[in-house]
Amino acid sequence: MFKNPFSQNCTCWICLEESVFDSTWIRHECGCNLQVHKLCYLHWLYSINKSYISKNLVTDNLNLVTEDDLKRTICHLVDGHRNLHREVSLSEFLNSLPFVRPKKKEPVISSVNIMSILGINYSIAFRIVRSPTSLPVEFAECPQCKSPVVNQQITFRSQSFFLELFYWTKSFIRNTTITLTLVLSTLNVGKWWFKIGIWQLRYLFPENVLRVILDTSTTKALNVYGETMNGLVSIPQVTRFLIFGFPLCLMGIRSPNLTLNGFKWLYSLVLTVRAGNYNSNSTKLLSRTLSACNICMLLHSVVATPFISKYYEHLIKIKTPYFFPIDRSLNAFPSHRYGDVIIKTSWYDTLFETILWPAVGSMVGGKLFDFVTWIQKEFGLNWSPSCSPNDCRMIFNFVGCGVTAFARQLLNMWVSYMRTKELKQLQESIEETMK
Ligand SMILES: [Zn+2]
Ligand SMILES: [Zn+2]
Repeated sequence: MFKNPFSQNCTCWICLEESVFDSTWIRHECGCNLQVHKLCYLHWLYSINKSYISKNLVTDNLNLVTEDDLKRTICHLVDGHRNLHREVSLSEFLNSLPFVRPKKKEPVISSVNIMSILGINYSIAFRIVRSPTSLPVEFAECPQCKSPVVNQQITFRSQSFFLELFYWTKSFIRNTTITLTLVLSTLNVGKWWFKIGIWQLRYLFPENVLRVILDTSTTKALNVYGETMNGLVSIPQVTRFLIFGFPLCLMGIRSPNLTLNGFKWLYSLVLTVRAGNYNSNSTKLLSRTLSACNICMLLHSVVATPFISKYYEHLIKIKTPYFFPIDRSLNAFPSHRYGDVIIKTSWYDTLFETILWPAVGSMVGGKLFDFVTWIQKEFGLNWSPSCSPNDCRMIFNFVGCGVTAFARQLLNMWVSYMRTKELKQLQESIEETMK
């Protein structure tokens, strides 16, 4: 008789409840035919660690690790989406590659015995309190065969498909960007940065405008100059600044970094001065477009950003994520950093997004352009702007970039909301098991 293993009835040997196997259960991976609820397992793991700590990590008059610290560590370890709020370091990234992954850890028991030297206990306490990455007893052992019940720490995730999709996209972006950065850093970085700058400028500005901005007879020549170091040096200084600085300027718009922010204003000043030379049909179109962009950026940072920060602050204060304990020092926390707490924007996110931004913005702008012409045709509107079709398309590129940035911000706000909901679920169920 064929028996579907997924509709098997399980009995939790801790609480003795019986039900059909689903994601709330774990099977013993040691080989014994035992099943246990995830939450029951966690409760068990928690009590093992608690008794270990009360035996070993308490000095005469102070407790090195409090119960809250332990709870926080467990939350961190079982949080399936924890990379959303933390930066993955380069060494962690390298360790996650299949061919450099370290060998499986030694059985826990032996390491626990060694760890009972006081000095090392301090280091465990430090790891739990400062950077919750591991427990003194990482895995509970099977009552029958005494080997660890699971080989990998169990994780909790909410059922939301979009959150999962966002998480995997973010992981993909991180891995791609770090890999590409490592590869490109072995090549000529300056050359590649120059190429990226020109490539981005071409998406935003049509050729005739670009010629004026970059002060060159044809931008194709710049491609050739960019190939060699001598060529790069022979490009006029302001042109070089405009090309090299463009990706940095976009990064300044995307990231809250103060240096990049300052650079953004310097860059747009130089660009606006150069744009004054472009005067097709004496409309000063380019200067006006750039000024409008500057006003939009200013309004965004003065009016919109405080509101958005308030929203994130509100989310954090009502849901109190485990990795952001609220205490008195919170008043010193700069309010514009709240947006970075639930969903962390790291250098790789900023780099990836700003490099693709003009391309995506121009694509969105193109669609908007088509849409507007379609509306004009369909409703017989007769709107003839005084600018050439090329200039018109350029304005739509800018609008497209603005729309993209707006959509990205909305996405971040929505995902943060979903994530706080997930965190609340996670923390409540862990809180419940550990009463
Ligand atoms: Zn149970
Ligand atoms: Zn076993």
